[in-house]
Amino acid sequence: INAYLCGTFYEKSKFKLIDIEKKMAQEDVFKKLVSHCKEYGFVFPSSDIYDGLGAVYDYGQMGVELKNNIKKYWWDSMVLLHENIVGIDSAIFMHPTIWKASGHVDAFNDPLIDNKDSKKRYRADVLIEDQLAKYDDKINKEVAKAAKRFGESFDEAQFRSTNGRVLEHQAKRDALHTRFAKALNDGNLDELRQIIIDEEIVCPISGTKNWTEVRQFNLMFSTEMGSTSEGAMKIYLRPETAQGIFVNYLNVQKTGRMKVPFGIAQIGKAFRNEIVARQFIFRMREFEQMEMQFFVKPGTELDWFKKWKEIRLKWHKALGFGDASYRYHDHDKLAHYANAATDIEFLMPFGFKEVEGIHSRTNFDLSQHEKFSGKSIKYFDPELNESYTPYVIETSIGVDRMFLSIMSASYCEEQLENGESRVVLKLPAALAPVKLAVMPLVKKDGLPEKAREVIDSLKFHFHCQYDEKDSIGKRYRRQDAIGTPYCVTVDHQTLEDNCVTLRNRDTMQQERVAISELNNIIADRVSIDRKSTRLNSSHVALSR
Ligand code: ATP
Repeated sequence: INAYLCGTFYEKSKFKLIDIEKKMAQEDVFKKLVSHCKEYGFVFPSSDIYDGLGAVYDYGQMGVELKNNIKKYWWDSMVLLHENIVGIDSAIFMHPTIWKASGHVDAFNDPLIDNKDSKKRYRADVLIEDQLAKYDDKINKEVAKAAKRFGESFDEAQFRSTNGRVLEHQAKRDALHTRFAKALNDGNLDELRQIIIDEEIVCPISGTKNWTEVRQFNLMFSTEMGSTSEGAMKIYLRPETAQGIFVNYLNVQKTGRMKVPFGIAQIGKAFRNEIVARQFIFRMREFEQMEMQFFVKPGTELDWFKKWKEIRLKWHKALGFGDASYRYHDHDKLAHYANAATDIEFLMPFGFKEVEGIHSRTNFDLSQHEKFSGKSIKYFDPELNESYTPYVIETSIGVDRMFLSIMSASYCEEQLENGESRVVLKLPAALAPVKLAVMPLVKKDGLPEKAREVIDSLKFHFHCQYDEKDSIGKRYRRQDAIGTPYCVTVDHQTLEDNCVTLRNRDTMQQERVAISELNNIIADRVSIDRKSTRLNSSHVALSR
């Protein structure tokens, strides 16, 4: 369990946990994480004193800082590091015809199914995806067992291609996958239900197979704009930020003198009336997206798709949570607008889950807006001396899912040598809400005044906290729990030599440094492009 808690849960084959323990361990980690988020001011249920509102959450004093740092990491890697990407901030309310043109009014649906006994509602496609993951689990378990038995001499590729049990699971998985992909692509809801019946998928709550028919459910929220009932217009809360970029692409291209290929980035709220919303901030009804639409010459889109796929994975990996925590997942069913699509998945405490989608959206959206608005929005290419509708590669990541992946990878319970234990959030320093806590050793002898002096010289550059309450050990624990990478202690010696003790969150090592050096030291260690880490421009941006 400790291994899971220490963010190394992806190495699960190393640990002898039988299935049920493993599942409990994962649920346990997730529960602990959710309560940690509340206890330390990261995430609160929305409308908490009214018992919450389904799948809507508020970010607290720590959460908002972490969220802003995530957004900055993304924004800078897009807009600062690429000369040909600029940002916008479009409105949430948009002309309703936009959603007709984009296909969302007719096709932004999820297939839902109810269990008649538990009365619980599920997404039919997610039930089948979970079943596919079960086959993967069985295969991985066989591989892990064999790896342990054979030790150094184990040849995994050979084992996977020859072992009878693995081949049997793989064949069942492949057959299910083919059938599932076909049903999705045909929009065949009866077949989706039949797959659920044939695979004997049961409701996790009631344990029964008493399923209703599968129905389509549109995920868009609507409201009315206008003060009189006759004059009111039905409008939608945007389910994605992308359309705000599409309808502005020519405004930006002309006013910014942008040349294809170029990109437009945006961070903003999106709203989806999700059928199932039971996984904390993983699936919310109000959430935030960071999207970048990259406009390219027709015919070059698949090359750009490949480049963006690679660079986006590097951006994730640069945070240092271990490459094994990520994988690509190609879409089984392409959306009506796409000719290629991949997800970047992260190993959450409840399995590999999508954090970001990279989609080649063709020229579908721009062509549709041209058709529905009746206005030409073609790009004039001065090099080719011709006009065309650009193709679009989109990278779309959820801020909240990114937040959850970072929190789950950082949350760690450690046994210390002195027999005590601590909860520490090993957040990448650049993303930590508070960079530095300054503490007088005792609340007297001029130490608080000296500590205030130190903090005053730093607080314009870093988010700092001052703390003088309780023992120094307790104060360290509080900072560990919110992921503060450095603590500075002011002691009696400081009054004589102007030096302080600097404590590192992860190693708990302490060093003595001059107050005059603190600014440089901290700046170097918490900077996003620190040379000694992989968080630098050559890893998170496209080369020119
Ligand atoms: P899913 O299959 O999980 O419903 P999706 O494929 O519909 O997700 P996209 O439309 O590709 O998601 O949206 C891009 C990103 O927005 C996702 O990768 C995810 O990070 C985020 N996102 C989408 N829906 C939600 C949601 N309900 N809550 C939080 N984040 C979301």
